[in-house]
Amino acid sequence: MGFHDLPLAERLLIARRGTAFFAQRLAELSDTDLDGETLLSGWSRRHLVAHVGYNAAALCRLLDWAATGVETPMYSSAEQRGREIDEGATLSPAALRNLFDHTVARLDEKWRNLPASAWDAQVRTAQGRTVPVSETAWMRTREVWIHAVDLGNGGRFGDFPDVVLESLLTDIVEMWRRRDLGTGLILAVDGREPVAVRPDSPPADKVSGPLAAVVRWAAGRGTVGVGIEGYLQEPPRWL
Ligand code: ZN
Repeated sequence: MGFHDLPLAERLLIARRGTAFFAQRLAELSDTDLDGETLLSGWSRRHLVAHVGYNAAALCRLLDWAATGVETPMYSSAEQRGREIDEGATLSPAALRNLFDHTVARLDEKWRNLPASAWDAQVRTAQGRTVPVSETAWMRTREVWIHAVDLGNGGRFGDFPDVVLESLLTDIVEMWRRRDLGTGLILAVDGREPVAVRPDSPPADKVSGPLAAVVRWAAGRGTVGVGIEGYLQEPPRWL
């Protein structure tokens, strides 16, 4: 059972629970803690909070697109997206926290008010994929749960709902396959049949462990809790 098999209301609920999870981690950080590093190289917590805020604003643009039919992309360019995050990182701690709260509330309002008939409207993601606007529930879910861990103050993949872990793993493996990555890589989640990322290639490296640890590794967030047989330490790139 994956995230996409759930009714829309439940998918939105999981996104909101992820937002609450992120908000809780953020609330536990002092203003000076915001200057600290994240799990993402080159990004301070300031960058990360700004990014999560601007991500919600970008998803609001997709919901506007679906509601009005007027094309409004998430970001006008990758450069604009990067510049916005760099500038956002210089905001005062209070302004950063406010940016997060405000954009969360706006996204929630857009989700609540989108007419039922508009949820299948096609929009384009920042990666260039065309998806129904209902996909924003998954896009936001991924962002808030994973970036809550990236804040680096106690959030763990083991805190995620299983359905989120399952769908993350599916997403990551699909992305690797689409890019011809992961040759020889076997993922062995405890209690399940091992999965060859590229079934056509001879097995070379095997990464095994509990679901949360394997997903964490696959998402590029470290080797804690996984066993690695072979030479591979870093997973193939995902996003
Ligand atoms: Zn992100």
